[in-house]
Parts: sequence; structure tokens; C-alpha cells
Amino acid sequence: MPYKDPAVAKRKNHERYLQKREQILAQAQKYYEEHREAQSANRKRWQQEHPEQMRGYGAKWRSDHPEENRKRILDYKDRLKVQVFDHYGRACKCCGETRKEFLSMDHVNGGGNKHRREAKLTNSTDLYLWIIRHNFPSDFQVLCHNCTAARGFYGYCPHEREQENRDESAFPLELFLQH
Ligand SMILES: [Zn+2]
Ligand SMILES: [Zn+2]
Repeated sequence: MPYKDPAVAKRKNHERYLQKREQILAQAQKYYEEHREAQSANRKRWQQEHPEQMRGYGAKWRSDHPEENRKRILDYKDRLKVQVFDHYGRACKCCGETRKEFLSMDHVNGGGNKHRREAKLTNSTDLYLWIIRHNFPSDFQVLCHNCTAARGFYGYCPHEREQENRDESAFPLELFLQH
């Protein structure tokens, strides 16, 4: 029944709504559960078909939540790093350093700079992503920054020389010559 006074009409409508509220909520819940998969598929399709808007939403969220965004990026980078180091081992191949802050990925046969240039990798996170996407190639190893730097500057790491000296003393030359 229509009411002439819009204020009255509004109040009556609201009263009716309150009476039916439980029923409406139950219906909405039921509808949501029955259509959950279809709705989520629709949402995904819409997101894929509107990459520009999605980028816009992402940019807005990022500028509205700078702290959380920073944390998310760090978490993401950490997850990639952990995934890569879990595969290659969480210790420097040369000296056994295990603190993750000191560790990085190294090209077994050198050529790291050339590879980074060619694959357009600008930071370690790019490299981790590249390694994961290329299914963990075997010509990478874990080195600490010390051992990487020594190899870069001198072409060898002092740890390797110390190891060679140890190997010699473990099997003395005199003993070798006697036979
Ligand atoms: Zn090392
Ligand atoms: Zn070393």
C-alpha cells in the first residue's frame, strides 16, 4: 500500500525490512553459498579482463597502506629467497656460512653479470624469480657475500687455498715419496 508522505513510507518500509531482516539475511547467506564458486569465477574473469583497473586498485591500496605494503613486499621477497635457498641449500658452498643475510646466489661457472644483463634482472628478487621460473637450474650455488667478493676480486677464495693446504697436510708429501 503506497503512502503519500515519503517520510512515513520510508519508515514503514524500514519496519517491514526489520521484520524480514532475519529472513533476508538467511536468504542472502544461502544465495552466497550456492553461488560462491560461480561468483568467484566471475570475479576472477572480470579481474583478468580489466588489468588496467586492477592495477589502479593495487596502486590505490599501496598508497593508502604504505607500511603494510612494505611488509608485504619484504614477506614476498623472503618467501622467494627461502624457496630458492631450500632448493640449493641454506649454507655457503665455500665456507658454510648459514646466516641468511650473508647468503646470495652465485653462477657456478661465473657469468653472473652477463646473465643478469641478458635476462634483465635488476636485483636479487628478480634473480630468485628467474631461478624459480626456470625450475632451479643446476649451474647455480649458494655463496656468502665474502666468498663471492673474494672470487670476484682475486679469482679465488682464501677458503679454497686453506682447504688445499689442509688436504696436503692430511696426506704429507714425505709419506707419499716413501712409496
Ligand atoms: Zn662463504
Ligand atoms: Zn670462501
